[in-house]
Amino acid sequence: MKRSLRLIFAITILLTACSQLPSSITINLGSPTNTAAPAPTQVAPLTAVPLQPTVAPPTAAPLKPTVAPTVAASPTSAPKSNQPMVYISGTTHIETNRQSWPNPDAFINFLRQVTTAGMKWSVGADIGWLEGEARAGEIIKTTEAMGVEWDIHAHQTSDRAKNVVKIKNLGGKPNTVISGLVLTELEEMRSPFKLSDGGTWFGDILWGFTLRPDHSAGSEDTSTGLWKPKNSKEFYTHDPNGSIIMVGGGTRDLKGAETLAKSNPKFAVTSATIMVTPVKLVVINMDAKGGLGTDGVNEIKSFAERMSKLSNVRLATISQTAKAWVEAGSVVSGSQVK
Ligand SMILES: [Zn+2]
Repeated sequence: MKRSLRLIFAITILLTACSQLPSSITINLGSPTNTAAPAPTQVAPLTAVPLQPTVAPPTAAPLKPTVAPTVAASPTSAPKSNQPMVYISGTTHIETNRQSWPNPDAFINFLRQVTTAGMKWSVGADIGWLEGEARAGEIIKTTEAMGVEWDIHAHQTSDRAKNVVKIKNLGGKPNTVISGLVLTELEEMRSPFKLSDGGTWFGDILWGFTLRPDHSAGSEDTSTGLWKPKNSKEFYTHDPNGSIIMVGGGTRDLKGAETLAKSNPKFAVTSATIMVTPVKLVVINMDAKGGLGTDGVNEIKSFAERMSKLSNVRLATISQTAKAWVEAGSVVSGSQVK
């Protein structure tokens, strides 16, 4: 009982980031019952203790994913300049719970306005919305035409494979961003997922991370850096041979991103993400009750205009930020990372 309460707390933290709190949640993190993931290498089963995983990450990806990893599939090129850049992305999560579902027309209109203003956006929709929203296919295709990407957001590990297939079946192009993750799930993401359509998927980019499933102070990651987490126990240790790139989202709000940009960080690629709630379509405020801030579409448009005037800022999606980091030499950024 205590453990399930902790898991619910963990999800509550995640949903603070996702910002629309459903009334109840079930979760199955850290469980070895994920049938979607193949077990091509000898790995020890996950223990029941979430903070002390004993699973060693496989050293090589045994399957070639049919959804091409964003970074691996991208041609590498020399860094375009030595000037440090702050990459600013935008994202919205939609939960399975209907209370978090956006009004389709309002959502499309919002995404049209912010992308026209220059923002690059991604949406992480959980399986309930993908399967239950009658206009999901229309929304995905319409927004992809605006440059919006569809990240793979789930609260149960096995749902990620379902989400990939569902987005494809709806006419969209699922990317390889693992959107929203609890610490204990990291080791399960090390192997490619088998898809029900016969393909495979491997998430090579990670965004939105909860460090501890206990709601303790500092549990929610607000890094602005990029690195490859060694494992869930040594999350802030960079593993040059790691297969998953963590993209920091910062404080998720306009003020945090603008402050970061104007602080001229010295790293080649630094990152901040603006997170907008799906129903009210406002930027989240991590310090506010319920996570709701007051900045809406007009404030985001003004923000985009200000940012586009800064020579050290690039507006990019989360996956484009990861790609830029690889192209700039995969140099660890952010002060938290060792
Ligand atoms: Zn979520």
